[in-house]
Amino acid sequence: MPPEPETKPIQPINIAIDGFSSCGKSTLAKALARELHYRYLDTGAMYRAIGYFALNKGLVDKDGNVDEANLILSLPDTQVGFAIDPETGASMVSLAGQVVEPFIRNLHIATLASKVSQIRQVRDHMQILQKQMAEEKGVVMDGRDIGTVVMPRAELKIFMTAEPSVRAQRRQIELEGQGKIMDLKTVLDQQIARDFEDVNRKEDPLRQAEDARILDNTDLTAEQQLALALYWVHQAKHKECFLKK
Ligand code: C5P
Repeated sequence: MPPEPETKPIQPINIAIDGFSSCGKSTLAKALARELHYRYLDTGAMYRAIGYFALNKGLVDKDGNVDEANLILSLPDTQVGFAIDPETGASMVSLAGQVVEPFIRNLHIATLASKVSQIRQVRDHMQILQKQMAEEKGVVMDGRDIGTVVMPRAELKIFMTAEPSVRAQRRQIELEGQGKIMDLKTVLDQQIARDFEDVNRKEDPLRQAEDARILDNTDLTAEQQLALALYWVHQAKHKECFLKK
């Protein structure tokens, strides 16, 4: 019998997904994590949790201004983490072990998340945690600064985009599902304002990493975008394997 050829198992990789809000980042990230049996990390949920923490600690005044100095001092108390829902397997963000997922998916917290995510010290604190979570490979992380700052060496980087009007329509349908009826113009205006903030803020603005693959899903179904991303994963894994030989 000829000897078995030497084969090395293909190692897991890290996948960074960045893009504007309502581009379907979390849909793709969750689907990839499920298919590949990787861990999914929603970094936006971490900033939302910090916004919720600030609100609960009385660090937000009636005009929505955040007491930055005291929030920075309180950062060690936030203890942002993730728990797994035993029934669905979904990842849920927590503060000091308390799951806060049900309280962070609303417009008020989204606005606070946007404010706290502009504070340098908050970003530093979150990025340290995110980098730790990515140390062991096999992570799909989505956000705004993942391919550029948090995982600049991720083997696969995806920058997601879609036509603004299509994104607004998707968002409107999502809101309807939550019982919130909003006209398309209002949704689109809010989206334009959030995009502007994301791209123009001083701290880690949203940028496409030079080596990112662009995924425009304007005309793609969730299944089609997953198939495309899985093809890129396959390529990235084999490139890694080839480079290591
Ligand atoms: O993605 P999501 O809407 O949940 O993000 C909430 C807020 O956190 C947004 O304002 C976004 O700009 C900010 N964020 C960030 N960096 C990330 C993820 C989200 O600044 N990596």
